[in-house]
Amino acid sequence: MTDPIPVVYGGRHRRVLEHPDHRKGINHGMMTITTIIDVAPSVVRLEALLDHEGDASRWLATNPALRLELPDVDGSSTVSRVYTVRSYREVGSRRLIDVDIVRHTGDSPVMQWLSGVRRGTSVRILGPRPHFCPSFIDGRPALLFADETAIPALTTILRDWPEAHPGLVWAETPDRAVIDEIPRPQGVEIHWLPRAVPEAPGTTGRLVDAAIEASAVHPEPITVWACGEHQEMRRIRDHFRRDREMRREDVQVFGYWRRGRTSSQIDEARLQRYEEALALNPRMTVLDDFDVDD
Ligand SMILES: Cc1cc2nc3c(=O)[nH]c(=O)nc-3n(C[C@H](O)[C@H](O)[C@H](O)COP(=O)(O)OP(=O)(O)OC[C@H]3O[C@@H](n4cnc5c(N)ncnc54)[C@H](O)[C@@H]3O)c2cc1C
Repeated sequence: MTDPIPVVYGGRHRRVLEHPDHRKGINHGMMTITTIIDVAPSVVRLEALLDHEGDASRWLATNPALRLELPDVDGSSTVSRVYTVRSYREVGSRRLIDVDIVRHTGDSPVMQWLSGVRRGTSVRILGPRPHFCPSFIDGRPALLFADETAIPALTTILRDWPEAHPGLVWAETPDRAVIDEIPRPQGVEIHWLPRAVPEAPGTTGRLVDAAIEASAVHPEPITVWACGEHQEMRRIRDHFRRDREMRREDVQVFGYWRRGRTSSQIDEARLQRYEEALALNPRMTVLDDFDVDD
């Protein structure tokens, strides 16, 4: 599929998206919802049929992400939102994926779209693109921290976990059912950080506290992967990079969403930074999300 990049993502920084490194192997396509499952009060699982040229190996990679292209809340434009492909399978000639969508309060493009989703609803997609994975080095324990938006990513990481590699996982979600579904490879301990329903997501600091405590219990060389609300992730990243002085390549931390900001605003700021990096170095570099931050 060779569609031009639509004016849905990047706004005035769209030029960077046309860079060949950014576009490598990324295709447009469609997905059509076949099944809608309420996994738990906080999560809806959409099973969808793919109409997409992407090679199967890209969908089967660890932690693939795609963009859903949806109407903005006022219907005046199209925006895009990033979701993890929790699983991929082929049934005869049909290619199916599962995407888990966390429900949140307030009006937003995804919540508005989700309220109208039925079997047969189609949506345009862009992807898949592999997202960050933990580093598995010399048997060092890998410490993983995820809020509920990162549990699909965590699921693919645990599914593909290197045999008997030591790991410790902390996951915050209000729903035990979500934790019960997570794969449990040998050598990995999983800790549920429950959140009471009245507590707002991204505010409890429980993942941050767990990270700091775990860091004290594991003074030996470790690696870290953490994804969730931006400000909480920044505190986790600062602890391991600044206080503990760990190397950049051993600390993979990414903000999946940010309280009080839309993903469109986050994308715009991120692309501006990529554009600045590209101006300095025409080969696209991997930027740490928190290197330049407001
Ligand atoms: C690589 C990657 C993978 C992701 N995978 C998943 C996934 O598999 N499942 C998933 O559910 N999310 C996932 N996310 C997060 C998802 O893209 C964001 O939550 C996104 O903002 C949702 O879009 P929206 O249109 O609902 O809200 P937006 O229009 O972006 O934001 C509107 C308002 O809602 C708030 N908001 C957004 N998300 C949440 C939330 N989860 N809880 C509380 N408030 C929120 C914002 O702070 C803002 O105030 C992923 C993000 C990334 C970068």
